[in-house]
Amino acid sequence: MKSQDTPESGDISAEEFRKHLRAVADWIADYREQIAERPISPNAKPGAVLAQLDTRPPESGTPLDKIFADIDRVIVPGVAHWAHPQFMSYFGCTTTSPGILAEMITGALNVNAMTWRTAPAATELETLVLDWLRQWLGLPNEFNGVVYDTASISTMHALAVAREEAAPNTRKVGLSGRAELPVLRIYASDQAHSSVEKSAIAIGIGEENVRRVPSDSEFRMDVSALREMIARDLRQKFQPMAVVATVGTTSTASVDPVKKIVHLCREHKMWLHVDAAYGGGLALLPECKWVTDGWSDVDSLVINPHKMLFVPFDFSALYLREIDRLRRLFTLVPEYLHLRDPVGAEINYMDYGVQLGRRFRALKAWVIWRAFGRERLAAIIREHLRLAKLFAEWIENDDRFELAAPVVMGVVCFRFVAADETKIDKLNSDMVEWINASGRGYITQTKLRGHTVMRIGLGNILTTEEHLRNVWQIIQEAASRED
Ligand code: PLP
Repeated sequence: MKSQDTPESGDISAEEFRKHLRAVADWIADYREQIAERPISPNAKPGAVLAQLDTRPPESGTPLDKIFADIDRVIVPGVAHWAHPQFMSYFGCTTTSPGILAEMITGALNVNAMTWRTAPAATELETLVLDWLRQWLGLPNEFNGVVYDTASISTMHALAVAREEAAPNTRKVGLSGRAELPVLRIYASDQAHSSVEKSAIAIGIGEENVRRVPSDSEFRMDVSALREMIARDLRQKFQPMAVVATVGTTSTASVDPVKKIVHLCREHKMWLHVDAAYGGGLALLPECKWVTDGWSDVDSLVINPHKMLFVPFDFSALYLREIDRLRRLFTLVPEYLHLRDPVGAEINYMDYGVQLGRRFRALKAWVIWRAFGRERLAAIIREHLRLAKLFAEWIENDDRFELAAPVVMGVVCFRFVAADETKIDKLNSDMVEWINASGRGYITQTKLRGHTVMRIGLGNILTTEEHLRNVWQIIQEAASRED
């Protein structure tokens, strides 16, 4: 039986919806306005959130007021507030107010962008924002893209195409049992993201066949070492399949010498995929065009606008010079979709990957990029670069610390060194734990050449110099405890 104010459909009434929508709108605006006053991290033990919730599946409905009260009471205090301006882990946080508005509308539309027919505007907007981004990245006209959720998935699809090139017909017959096939190998620097191994696991290459190439003193792939590894593998009858070059590595944001790697890949007929998940965004700044060096000659490139270009999580764009190779690999149309396109004018993005159903991700990119324009996006990124350099100066002027890597983008790796050498790794790790537990700052630790270092990433539109000073203050407090 339906209650009196529940419409026949079973949904809540339009009136009730409007009431809650207003309340949620105010809640979001307040959250964003007052976020700096919140503790960043919940500092809770695993299971603490669950312990406060009813774990039985709901048999009958609960009023929304009660559910929203639980969100305030349990859920919100139980998250790490990525959007907090003093959250400086990973690459910072990418959400923006226009992005949040667009996400709300995406939720209301709830279209499935699998084919043009199921979502004409979602498909065409995807094509449009992909082309804007292509132009900003300076990729030649022949590059075309597709939007996925994450860089890991983008890289997996790029490497699946590379595998099909190296081992034709794998789509049809697979890799196993083919005596004629040598073992395929992928090369990536010792700084590359673990998504390369995950891709190799998923596409049947095997994680041991991802060869990690040493990096130089500035954490960039050493191309002569790559050349030697390929030559050695050829002598041992392996088949070099692909190189993944990184533009903006996860720990230090270093940039591999793509142009030199292009030559080597051409020489050996290998696929070159560029992981510009983070660093690609720098291409929007005219003074940083150096970052795109060699891109026009690569086979594929991934960029995550949810890392530097202010699109709320998630949005990853994969570009291929010949995107038809990707389409040929993955097109498989189930009967029930009834695709009829006599003139071939319909783009069906489901053809470009494993996924059938796809979120309407293009809307949020279109809204935020239109609302700001390239100039404003570039100005904010430029400010983050300035803050990163400023922070690096503070580190250099304090004897207790040293920089652990060159500052190339909005990322700074540094190390507390005022202690007995044998204790330094643990101290750095302990300091990060203490800073994060304070609720006033949130940073990351990583390992460089086997040593634990601290790391900040600047990417939040709300972060100002004052916020950075606050985090530096907390880091200094942590250091004073160890002096
Ligand atoms: N590539 C690089 C350079 C990264 O730093 C990361 C994650 O931080 C990834 C790939 C994986 O990104 P995603 O979470 O979108 O899969």
